[in-house]
Amino acid sequence: MTQPFRTLLDLCRRRGFLYQSAEIYGGLRGAYDYGPLGVEMKKNILNSWWQRHVYNRDDVVGLDTSILTPHPVLKASGHVDEFTDLLVDCALTKERFRPDKAPPLSLDKNGHIPITAPSKETALAWKKAIEDQFAPNTKVTVEGNRILLFVDHIVQPDQRGQGGKIVFQMLDESSPLELNYHGYVEPDTNSPFLTDSRPFNLMFKTFLDPIDPIDRVIQTTMNKPNDSKTSVREAVDQVLKPSTVFLRPETAQGVFVNFEQVVRTMKTKPPFGIAQVGKSFRNEIRLEHGIFRTPEFEQLELEFFVAPWEAKHYFKYWRKERYNWWLEHATNPEKFRQRDHESDEMAHYATGCTDVEYLYPWGWGEVEGVAHRGNYDLTQHIKNTGANFEISEEKPALSQEVKESGEGEAELIPTETPARYIPHVVESSCGLNRAMLAYLCDAFHQIEDGKGKPPRNVLKLHPRLSPIKCAVMPLTGKDEFLPLTKKVAKSLRRKGWYTVIESQKLKIGKRYYRHDEIGTPWCVTVDYQSLEDDTVTIRDRDTGLQERVNWKDVQTIIGEKLME
Ligand code: ATP
Repeated sequence: MTQPFRTLLDLCRRRGFLYQSAEIYGGLRGAYDYGPLGVEMKKNILNSWWQRHVYNRDDVVGLDTSILTPHPVLKASGHVDEFTDLLVDCALTKERFRPDKAPPLSLDKNGHIPITAPSKETALAWKKAIEDQFAPNTKVTVEGNRILLFVDHIVQPDQRGQGGKIVFQMLDESSPLELNYHGYVEPDTNSPFLTDSRPFNLMFKTFLDPIDPIDRVIQTTMNKPNDSKTSVREAVDQVLKPSTVFLRPETAQGVFVNFEQVVRTMKTKPPFGIAQVGKSFRNEIRLEHGIFRTPEFEQLELEFFVAPWEAKHYFKYWRKERYNWWLEHATNPEKFRQRDHESDEMAHYATGCTDVEYLYPWGWGEVEGVAHRGNYDLTQHIKNTGANFEISEEKPALSQEVKESGEGEAELIPTETPARYIPHVVESSCGLNRAMLAYLCDAFHQIEDGKGKPPRNVLKLHPRLSPIKCAVMPLTGKDEFLPLTKKVAKSLRRKGWYTVIESQKLKIGKRYYRHDEIGTPWCVTVDYQSLEDDTVTIRDRDTGLQERVNWKDVQTIIGEKLME
């Protein structure tokens, strides 16, 4: 982890953006909680997305569907059979740490690596970091301030046989741990864990049943002889299948299964879109880079339904539209790029896919996928339920907009009328948590004072994404400044902006710097002159410049700046 990234993560923890989930219990692997500032920033990203793609248009509507998804929906969509990653179980043994470059960590007779931490609390924090890094089979036991680490971890097939340095990344900078193995991971043919690669389904399964699934299996199978052709696993699956539900791995399927209801109730037809924001869950083999890859995350998804002959146009249109949204909030636009998928990267039904990527401190990483999904999903749900997802067009033609863009597929326009078709879908799927991490990295700056002091942190967040829009401050702690301070704050709060009164007993400069560190774009100060002539100063986070204005104008001035 680079030092600035470490410092940024520390800032997030220290200033209330991000906490480790259930930290007082030692944390939960890959789970993070969003603190008071984190929740605001996440909401601001979501609002910007929703404002632009739902409220500012007349062809997109919203939806909020259930997280619990029945087995048949995800069977039809292909997730039950296909939503897998390849997995290799790989046990590392003593012989396979070759200490030829650096002293290895020694293993005790049970194959554990003993590590002594400075305190019990640090040992618990290290345990969490190790588990985060080596999900999910590393066994870590804590005894007082000692950790016993058993590296029995799962690697991707392409990592097999590779050696190198293993660094445990810490969210909590106060207790960093870096263990360097310079050695080689070699296959251990005697290991009971070493397996060939096998598909691993990423969905979390649970059961909607008042009877404990284990009891149900025992009750149902106890007196029933198993015929030798059915494996125990198949027999258990059969018993549990009716009550099996999944935590959805994407929000999209909820949109597809509601397609007909939305068309009917909203009296709409293609081209139109359905937007959905919500949590998705994936039992990821590898959890990495804090909130970049977690088992529970939020997606902002838009499914845009179009006639087949207009799909080409809308795929191009949404690629551009979504990329522009990313750039609109960026401090360093050159760190955002679009990457077209190679044909072997795409789902078999997709005819085009472009990722938006951000240059994170560890390299380019996907923040969003824009895909031309064809009519695969709707067709699958029709096949399995007989639902009527067909659209009828009296006079099929290219719309004016598509004609002008020259990007429709004129040859696909049916000649018979009325034409019936199953709409094609252009999807944009953005990770909210990854967006937050990307924009935090993008905004993070360190400013040197040139006098040898440690640099100070500034988050140059786009004002619309900043958790706090405005901090109103009395110049000193004297009571005489308070009435006007409260009046200014009240006028800004009326606009719906998160505004705080900053009356801590710190010098005004220190209070400005505290707000620079969390990205507050404007600080309004009530001083002696304010008491004379009703003026206040507005300080700009990025330039440090102050303008003096009548306090009643602050609302308008900030409103205009937020629109820029
Ligand atoms: P990756 O290749 O990084 O695993 P993906 O291609 O599987 O991502 P999609 O299925 O296209 O991801 O999901 C759409 C978006 O959802 C991604 O661009 C990403 O922003 C977000 N996302 C997917 N998986 C996770 C995760 N485990 N944690 C956080 N965000 C995620």
